[in-house]
Amino acid sequence: MARLEKRSWAEPFKIKMVELLKMTTKEQRIKAIKEAGYNTFLLKSEDVYIDLLTDSGTSAMSDRQWAGLMQGDEAYAGSKNFYTLERAVKKYYGYKYLIPTHQGRGAENILSQVMIKKGDIIPGNMYFTTTRLHQELAGGTFIDVIIDEAHDSESLHPFKGNIDLDKLKAVIKKHGPHRIPYICVAVTVNMAGGQPVSMQNLKELRALTSKHGIKIMLDMTRIAENAFFIQQREKGFSRRSVASIVKDICSYTDGATFSGKKDALVNIGGFLALNDAEKFEEASNLVVVYEGLHTYGGLAGRDMEAMAIGIEESVQDEHMKARIGQVLYLGEQLTKADIPIVLPIGGHGIFIDAKKFLPHLTQDQFPAQVLAAELYEDAGIRAMERGIVSAGRNAKTGNHYYPKLELVRLTIPRRVYTQAHMDVIAESVQSVYDRRNKIKGLAMIYEPKYLRFFQARFKKLA
Ligand SMILES: *Cc1c(COP(=O)(O)O)cnc(C)c1O
Repeated sequence: MARLEKRSWAEPFKIKMVELLKMTTKEQRIKAIKEAGYNTFLLKSEDVYIDLLTDSGTSAMSDRQWAGLMQGDEAYAGSKNFYTLERAVKKYYGYKYLIPTHQGRGAENILSQVMIKKGDIIPGNMYFTTTRLHQELAGGTFIDVIIDEAHDSESLHPFKGNIDLDKLKAVIKKHGPHRIPYICVAVTVNMAGGQPVSMQNLKELRALTSKHGIKIMLDMTRIAENAFFIQQREKGFSRRSVASIVKDICSYTDGATFSGKKDALVNIGGFLALNDAEKFEEASNLVVVYEGLHTYGGLAGRDMEAMAIGIEESVQDEHMKARIGQVLYLGEQLTKADIPIVLPIGGHGIFIDAKKFLPHLTQDQFPAQVLAAELYEDAGIRAMERGIVSAGRNAKTGNHYYPKLELVRLTIPRRVYTQAHMDVIAESVQSVYDRRNKIKGLAMIYEPKYLRFFQARFKKLA
């Protein structure tokens, strides 16, 4: 017998309850995706075998979290669970004041309203859809100050989420520090493919912003994943725990918005955290308008309890090793099969380069949309298009935006799928790759006005 090559890691949990999935035939899937207009957003979830549409709100909760639901104190004011959550936020993140919200964008709305005045500039390390929109609705303008490497799918920079301090200095010089209430720093950077920010970069950013009296607000939605990358890649951190790195990251900042639907292993929830007492007072007044009383912010007591427990579980080294380990495993299988993917492999998913996968298709034949549909037909895997369809049209000219990156995102939910599922995914991608030359493009036959990728419909080109 051949010797096994290495010692593998495995999930630091065992499975207590399972959700049975409907197994479909290829004929059924060909019919289902056709009926869905070749748009994976329009598939019924029950027709999907492995759902990689998003990692948001799709995690599996632990038995402790489920038990926490039973301890919901559904009082209108001053729920016990609020204080549990507040303790968790102080302990693991170190922020002084907490305002729960229904999810991340609820916190973004309140932060933007409290901090931004009309005409202000908000620099950030690449935009995120809802974050930028709330900044704009509050009268601000977002300016991207991420390093150039983030926009290059082939750059192997270990911290592609870093802020380019020279770009930021230029923005400060041009607009003046009084026009910049804060810089929004995302850890990790979702739109760049789950790429991390280094501690060194945060430290230098803190020094620069302090000099000018500019605050740093964190979008800490995937902070534990970012901390894991710092532990693995940054000099001086290999012996540090993920939990202690998470707290260090927060210590360089003045506050944060958080979507509990990612790192914190819950299906709904979020918060705004601040260190400034005055801003906190304003924010806890505003939350009453949009979300609910400041001790529940749109959440049930039980949701706050589950999120508090999820926060604690999310910063455990063993959890993170398995979480990112699973994403890396899938990425490495695909790399071995010569599938073109964005490198380095990010924290929450794999991004396939559809332009390189289907080079015979022009971008207006929607290669990423095509590839997502093909993966569904092949094995019932649901992925998401992140290319020309997502980019939409230029409002002035009416033409498509032609983004540089034409990607298919395979997003991995936390603690949901096994390593065997990862093999099935890799084998399916390979099988589609083997017959890539025969794959035809799509034509758009219905295009909604807003955020077209959600509802657009397509037909196969003959
Ligand atoms: C998901 C997400 C948000 C918004 O959070 P929601 O809970 O979906 O409202 C903000 N920033 C980033 C980076 C995200 O991934």
